[in-house]
Amino acid sequence: MAERVAAVRERVAGAGGEDRVTIVAVTKRFGPESVAAAVAAGVDDVGESYAQELLAKAGAVAPSRWHFVGRLQANKVRSLVGTVSLWQSVDRARLVDELARRAPGARVLVQVDVSGEPSKGGCPPAEVPALVERAAEAGLEPAGLMAVAPLGPPEDARPGFRAVTALADRLGLQERSMGMSADLEVAVQEGSTMVRVGTALFGPRPPRPRAPHMGN
Ligand SMILES: *Cc1c(COP(=O)(O)O)cnc(C)c1O
Repeated sequence: MAERVAAVRERVAGAGGEDRVTIVAVTKRFGPESVAAAVAAGVDDVGESYAQELLAKAGAVAPSRWHFVGRLQANKVRSLVGTVSLWQSVDRARLVDELARRAPGARVLVQVDVSGEPSKGGCPPAEVPALVERAAEAGLEPAGLMAVAPLGPPEDARPGFRAVTALADRLGLQERSMGMSADLEVAVQEGSTMVRVGTALFGPRPPRPRAPHMGN
């Protein structure tokens, strides 16, 4: 694990992000022992996409910060309050309002839809400024933007990442969470401050359970 973490840090540094980029280990579908191994290797930030999984692992291991990175249902917010440090996938008014009610002052990223793939979530770019403003007015702390690249070769992600950085600059937002195992160099070159890395740290992900009993 230490070697894999070092390899990811090297890739980030090679793309010019050494001093600015936080590595978030995304442990979805890996067990709590994977979280523990990453933490032992010096990773402070751990991300999960499913509420149930995050809560189960948080009962077993305590990284410095948990990030919620997946599609988020408003009815799951309540159970995650007090555990999640950064809500990365806020993409609609209903979520902003629920977070403001349940977790006043919470740090959030607004997820931007750069792929046009509905399964990935995200707010249409044109609606991002209003959602950021709504979050600030509701008493949340909008810290930046997040994006999940479209399927395809890493280079195809570049225009979307560039647009996210331009939008974050325009809105005066510091954080840009973009880049995963396959495309983190492109993301860092385009201004990422946070890469979300799963398979490059943990290897191939176990298959999704057949019955969607995990919830979201
Ligand atoms: C799974 C996931 C990642 C990590 O993906 P890898 O390709 O395994 O690095 C990053 N971000 C989100 C939102 C994810 O769901």
